[in-house]
Amino acid sequence: IIEVKNLRKSFGALEVLKDVSLSVARSEVVAVIGPSGSGKSTMLRSLAHLEEVNGGTIRIGEDHLVLDGKYPGAAKIKEITSRMGMVFQHFNLFPHLTVRGNLELAPRLTKRLPAADIARKAEELLAKVGLQDKGDAYPANLSGGQKQRVAIARALMMSPEILLFDEPTSALDPELTGEVLEVMRQLAGERMTMVVVTHEMGFAREVADRVMFMADGEFIESGTPDELFGNPRQERTKVFLNRVL
Ligand code: ATP
Ligand code: MG
Repeated sequence: IIEVKNLRKSFGALEVLKDVSLSVARSEVVAVIGPSGSGKSTMLRSLAHLEEVNGGTIRIGEDHLVLDGKYPGAAKIKEITSRMGMVFQHFNLFPHLTVRGNLELAPRLTKRLPAADIARKAEELLAKVGLQDKGDAYPANLSGGQKQRVAIARALMMSPEILLFDEPTSALDPELTGEVLEVMRQLAGERMTMVVVTHEMGFAREVADRVMFMADGEFIESGTPDELFGNPRQERTKVFLNRVL
């Protein structure tokens, strides 16, 4: 469902993505690991069109978000990116809106669904992430784990085909990561397609179908969790794993 080929991205003179290729099948969970600064967030942000790349191709389903460095018109880009949801490290909830308001905002602005259906869907998704009693709360009054579960529910409001996660637990106190990982594990069980940039090696090992190791703007090794964690072939992968495991 995702096909990325030879992606290149620079910020000024800094070449951040050198040659990134990746394919993700429908219902697959891919974990992306790698050192700080290797380009993981930039890769993910490029998939969601939060960054524009300088070259390469991203195909989402049958549509090209970018083809050989060329982007289609704004309407087409919007149509493609609307099929993806993104969850960030720092939640990015709207502080002036309640939890329910956060969930309903994007669908109200963009979807042709009646308000009652949007409201019903918000209640369903809050229940799904275990926050059915928090609809009227403001983000400031939630714990980090609760905020991140709201962010996941908010992403699900748009019925995405693909969820992109950028270190969803790394801003959380250790005792709060479990509740977020549990929601992600549940989504994986429901066969959601997910690309998860993470430093939770336990999660990558247990939940991912495939783990990809990025270093210096390229994927240099990928495999099943058993292959990558149990028998890494590249020296740089070994060094990284020795440091984090
Ligand atoms: P981390 O694990 O710390 O989140 P990362 O692998 O996600 O790292 P990126 O955030 O993709 O790495 O950053 C890759 C490189 O690109 C870094 O050197 C970073 O400083 C640089 N970079 C990222 N965004 C920008 C930007 N908007 N302008 C300039 N440089 C940027
Ligand atoms: Mg990052």
